[in-house]
Amino acid sequence: MFCRDLAAAEKHGGGLLVRLNERGGIAPATDGGILIETNEWPEAAQPLGFWHERPVAVTVAPGDDGWPSARAWLAELPDAAFPLVSTALQVVAWQRNHRFCGRCGQAAERVISEFAMQCPACGHRNYPRISPCIITLVTHGEDLLLARSPHFAPGRYSTLAGFIEPGEAAEEAVRREIFEEVGVTVGRIEYFRSQSWPFPHALMLGFFAEAVERRIRVDGVEIVDAAWFSPRRLPQLPTPFSISRALIEAHLGALGTR
Ligand SMILES: [Zn+2]
Repeated sequence: MFCRDLAAAEKHGGGLLVRLNERGGIAPATDGGILIETNEWPEAAQPLGFWHERPVAVTVAPGDDGWPSARAWLAELPDAAFPLVSTALQVVAWQRNHRFCGRCGQAAERVISEFAMQCPACGHRNYPRISPCIITLVTHGEDLLLARSPHFAPGRYSTLAGFIEPGEAAEEAVRREIFEEVGVTVGRIEYFRSQSWPFPHALMLGFFAEAVERRIRVDGVEIVDAAWFSPRRLPQLPTPFSISRALIEAHLGALGTR
């Protein structure tokens, strides 16, 4: 399993390495996984922590365009690898997007033993950006409200999701997003659990919400189709490692249909 201890990992200078290319592909290791044995990490590598007590770092370098995508890896790797992959992807994306100080424009420098970038001119420090989102399974009795966004694979439906806006509580975001996307008012809301989602840096807060009406009005922009589905006639569902799928499975489990 993955243990976050950047400061201790940094002291080792080598161990395991996750290699990413600039398109987000991850290099396969000789054992078929993603952890490459290396005595010495490249200078630009970012230590992350420990994987089963071995120090692990991530690096981005030109590589083979044919390396599998992170999503493809996540579908194959054991669940325990999710936090490591998610951390690696988010830290790399943040460093790529915060090379210069947002306050004065100077080149920023990596801070040792912390996930932080510091400006040598004005002292401004920035940390990895994490964007909180809500993700909600709306139900009415046994039925599930599932929707399609325009970029989904054909036939796939999922739960509703959206970013929490400045000044907004998570529960307020749940009600607002559901109403904006499908025009449905919800009554009782129940928190489920959360999941880090590294595409590119979301923290998904999962909720169940009970609809007080069945009429749907899709917004036509973020959502192109939405419908009520019976637990016995479901469309193609989201990927098994997603919290969206976990919400759906939890509802089906509570009904005794799984
Ligand atoms: Zn600055």
